Amino acid sequence: MTEHLYYHDSFLYEFDADVIDITTVDSRPAIILNRTAFYPTSGGQVFDTGWIVPAGAEKLRVAEVTEQEDGTILHFLESPAQVQPGSRIHGLIDVERRHDHMQQHTGQHVLSAAFVRSFNMPTVSFHMGAESCSIDLDTKGLTAKQAEAAEMLANGVVTENRSVSIRFVAGEEAQKLRLRKLPPVERDQLRLIDIHDFDLTACGGTHVTATGQIGCILLRKIEKVRQGWRVEFVCGQRAVSTARRDYTALAESAGLLSTQVWDVPEQIRKAQEESRLLKKSAEHALAEFADLYASQMLAETAESSGRQVVVRVFSDRDLGFIKLLAQKLTRQSASVIALLGVRSNSPTLVFAQSPGQPFDMGALMKEALAKLGGRGGGSKDMAQGGPAQVAGIEEELNRIAARLANQRF
Ligand SMILES: [Zn+2]
Repeated sequence: MTEHLYYHDSFLYEFDADVIDITTVDSRPAIILNRTAFYPTSGGQVFDTGWIVPAGAEKLRVAEVTEQEDGTILHFLESPAQVQPGSRIHGLIDVERRHDHMQQHTGQHVLSAAFVRSFNMPTVSFHMGAESCSIDLDTKGLTAKQAEAAEMLANGVVTENRSVSIRFVAGEEAQKLRLRKLPPVERDQLRLIDIHDFDLTACGGTHVTATGQIGCILLRKIEKVRQGWRVEFVCGQRAVSTARRDYTALAESAGLLSTQVWDVPEQIRKAQEESRLLKKSAEHALAEFADLYASQMLAETAESSGRQVVVRVFSDRDLGFIKLLAQKLTRQSASVIALLGVRSNSPTLVFAQSPGQPFDMGALMKEALAKLGGRGGGSKDMAQGGPAQVAGIEEELNRIAARLANQRF
């Protein structure tokens, strides 16, 4: 088993160790040391990266660190290397990454404790992502106000700069200590993280030594998940860069709306309401226009055998409009057959007849599409289709119209 140097000092960024073995796992080279300050992925916290420097040789990049069940830690190298068992190495932790992880992880302890103290909502899991972190709370409900209150309490603890200390106790003793969380497996010795007079919990991760080093804790999205509520958060430098990005997006939105950032939601509500009214009035105007257009078309179409057959192919109207027009045409008079089309990128046909007329629009549509290609169909009084080609639409509609106009029953 590897000696876990990070158990005692999270700020130990450099160390010396002996190489115990160099092995290959899933065709990746991995070094095993007698002692290490590299933190392996565990308990929600992700691994450290850094470098291993063999005596008198080039430094080797450590790309991932994992822990085996027996406590042996594997340092996965970016590329194969010549390192002899028994040789001495110098280890270097990627400080920026470790420091970020300590801020996120200690911030999580404070936040989890704040949810317990304020609302008795225990944390059931912790996830540390590359962008943000999250905890899952065991609770049926969580309001934005409650999240804000927990955030306020947690940041109070940050500004109080309480000490964060590590101690080891026997498993039996831990039972008496009213820990926030006990590890699932029983152990002889437990490592406790003690945030002075605020939180005491068992944890194997790396933490800062005083809460002020967390910087700040910023809560973001809260969402219902299967077993409770998820709270997304960022701490320290991540909180600053996240808040900066949020503000940039908000300021850009405010600029587009020519308003102050605080007024953005109100301006969006206004714009949505305006757009809803505009849409309504456009629909109204279009219906009126279709009505007038239909009257004019009927006035220009001669009667034949007691009915009017209207044929029109538009170059730039959409399906919605010609359906509306077909409806108006066939309702304004009891003896109208409308054969309408659109000659655009997606050519369209609509056939309709006044209720009571003797033809079958669905059958006529199938007949037209048999010539023009494409798909479509409909009922006796109304049918629509999408011909495969634009060429020949007018001729086909005129041919059908001529036949209907002359048909006697
Ligand atoms: Zn921890």
